[in-house]
Amino acid sequence: MTMIERRKTRQVWVGNVPVGGDAPVVVQSMCDTDTKDVEATVAQIQALEAAGCEVIRVAAPTKEAAQAIGRIKSRIRIPLVADIHFDYLLALEAIAQGADKIRINPGNILYRDGMAGVEKVVNACKQTGIPIRVGVNAGSIDKRLLDKYGYPSPEAAVESATGYVRLLEELDFHDIIISVKFSDVPQMVRAYRLLSQQVDYPLHLGVTESGTTWSGSIKSSIGIGTLLYDGIGDTLRVSLNTTDKTDEVKVAYEILKALEIRARGPVLTACPSCGRAEVDQVALATAVEKALEGVKKELRVAVMGCVVNGPGEAAGSDLAVVGGKDKVMIYKRGEPVRRVKQNEAIPALLEEIERFEAPSGEARLAREYAPRKAKPGQVHGHNEIVQWLEKAPQRG
Ligand code: SF4
Repeated sequence: MTMIERRKTRQVWVGNVPVGGDAPVVVQSMCDTDTKDVEATVAQIQALEAAGCEVIRVAAPTKEAAQAIGRIKSRIRIPLVADIHFDYLLALEAIAQGADKIRINPGNILYRDGMAGVEKVVNACKQTGIPIRVGVNAGSIDKRLLDKYGYPSPEAAVESATGYVRLLEELDFHDIIISVKFSDVPQMVRAYRLLSQQVDYPLHLGVTESGTTWSGSIKSSIGIGTLLYDGIGDTLRVSLNTTDKTDEVKVAYEILKALEIRARGPVLTACPSCGRAEVDQVALATAVEKALEGVKKELRVAVMGCVVNGPGEAAGSDLAVVGGKDKVMIYKRGEPVRRVKQNEAIPALLEEIERFEAPSGEARLAREYAPRKAKPGQVHGHNEIVQWLEKAPQRG
């Protein structure tokens, strides 16, 4: 559905989910529960699954946490990634418990047994057929590179990550996914662009420690969105400091939908409201957004505040709710279909969604991008301006 040409990467499988190659960009999240609290972790994963999360990561900071992975896995459907720092024995335990991928920074698991530990982890991954994510963050770049570059720069992060990748390749291991996350958006974008020129492994995108739902969503949208628009990125996690982890998944899909990379449920557009609005436009748009949460159909829904510009602005939508004096009008592909009281807008819209047959694939794109012709007598502002400009030389 997208016009964006994605960078060609090799494909790696995380459980039954392909990442890279021609696979769709995969949405991930990470639990903030104590992993050894199996009940709480499973409940959070199930909520994330319902929201559309396709791969879940859990921390495995202790033996008890790593040992809980098997019990968690038996109750969830999506692949599980174990996040390992410092102790390679925890990676071995997580793999034994059935983890579908491990995330390590090879540099920080050397302290116990040096390279022997890394080799044991790689061999265990080979035997079980699971991939490794080499995860380098600005905060975990090794000291040698910090000395070389003077600060945790994108170049330092990329050199660190590609060094680890070479190490894995030396061990004849190639099921690799890479991330180079920064909390600083321009640095993050630069790091991934640089990395994408040097490797053909799938890339896991993210802005680390991005902030709360509000600020983190903006930073993630800019950082991840810029890279996806460049065609870079095979999987992503929107990291948010939030009380509801499903926010991460919702924001991830909004980014993908906005770029027309993936479809999932309706795409909502809403005018910002202004002095012409004849309805409480913010309340109406919020109510429509809430009502659409349970809708699976892929369609475009617009909420417009007035009849002056609303119908025109909503013409590109499948369904539109346009505020009017006391009543709202529902439009289907630019044509009015129903006029209802304001408090009946949501049930009426949901009825129309139920009846709506969403076109898919090329038919949909052809309709959306086809030039819209003005009806006879209809003023078409843009054409008027173009014609006026074309006649400019004759006017002297
Ligand atoms: Fe204002 Fe109407 Fe445009 Fe909304 S649709 S911004 S209310 S003019």
